[in-house]
Amino acid sequence: MSAALDLEGLTRVHASGSAPALDGFTLDVPAGSCVAVLGPSGSGKSTVLRLTAGLDEPTAGSVRLDGRDLAGVPPERRGMAMVFQRPLLFPHLSVRDNVAFADRVRGVPRRRARERAEEYLGLVQLAGYGDRPARALSGGQEQRVALARALAAEPRVLLLDEPFSALDTALRAEMHDLLADLRLRLDPTVLLVTHDPAEADALADAVAVLDGGRLQQAGPLGELYARPASLAVSRLLGGRTEVPGTVRDGVHTSALGPLALPGPVPDGPGVLVVRPEAVRVTAPGDPAADVTGTVVRVRRRGLRALVVVQVPGPVGTAVEAELAAGEELPAGRPVGLVLPVGARTVVPPAGPASAPDPARSAISHG
Ligand code: ADP
Ligand code: MG
Repeated sequence: MSAALDLEGLTRVHASGSAPALDGFTLDVPAGSCVAVLGPSGSGKSTVLRLTAGLDEPTAGSVRLDGRDLAGVPPERRGMAMVFQRPLLFPHLSVRDNVAFADRVRGVPRRRARERAEEYLGLVQLAGYGDRPARALSGGQEQRVALARALAAEPRVLLLDEPFSALDTALRAEMHDLLADLRLRLDPTVLLVTHDPAEADALADAVAVLDGGRLQQAGPLGELYARPASLAVSRLLGGRTEVPGTVRDGVHTSALGPLALPGPVPDGPGVLVVRPEAVRVTAPGDPAADVTGTVVRVRRRGLRALVVVQVPGPVGTAVEAELAAGEELPAGRPVGLVLPVGARTVVPPAGPASAPDPARSAISHG
């Protein structure tokens, strides 16, 4: 019952002359897969879902379901159901009648609609809650009901617009498990919108990164971590090491000196980015070290610590490294850093529109 969703060149301009909210967005969501659209606030994520659902009309581009173009098809005829950040339940109706609502509108007899509602409440682990008024539920329960209501419509595509972002960490993890279980049982096609890489990682088979209305990169999240295509992708995935320089003949030259790159990169200006997990911290005199510097800040992250190492170059030139679990290094300690060849990625310098925010990288500011 799940269908393949095909977005092609989707563009939405709200007012003529203004920048598009979404600009030529193309994405394949194979039947039965879960693809996450990941991006910061205002990047166009909800616009993707609204255009897909038919709640808004594209200025250009198409939405196809199993190859059929949905232009002109109203939202209620698209075979899609959407869950939003807020559950939007009818507070005065019972939980059961909230879930049964779409069936009732479709003319399903009351008794049958209620039976089906109970089935879906069971699927979201709310069996026995049917008689309660919706207003008596907690936030996590409300979102389960919203999910049950969406699933009861037997959509061919499930659209999720940051549905768990208002929940606390523990509840969010529970909802992630629930959605993973529902995927195994019902095999829905899911298009999920989130600003949280961890959520995309927990739920999605593939990720499409949006920034400023434009698709930056799409693929399995691991690929995007290892080989970000732009500064926007690197930053969104938590990358903070950015060393400007120049590429020539497969070698990046910067304040860190010449560093050979693992694959072909076009000659010209480029920013070296390296994931903190890939950087190895060693003694300052270690001949294996690619660069030497001084720890200027330590950031705790549960069992692991991240160190910011100031390296030669303009003020603020720094490399972040994740330490092994339990390892500690104080600020002020000189260290050597190994930047494994395979972990060196060069991305284009930021354009004027996306100049780096100095508050992010300047270690001299605190
Ligand atoms: P996200 O969901 O990633 O936060 P949206 O898709 O909601 O982003 O919005 C993308 C951009 O489009 C934003 O700059 C937003 O202000 C703009 N936008 C969204 N809806 C409208 C509208 N109805 N009129 C004008 N601009 C809009
Ligand atoms: Mg949004």
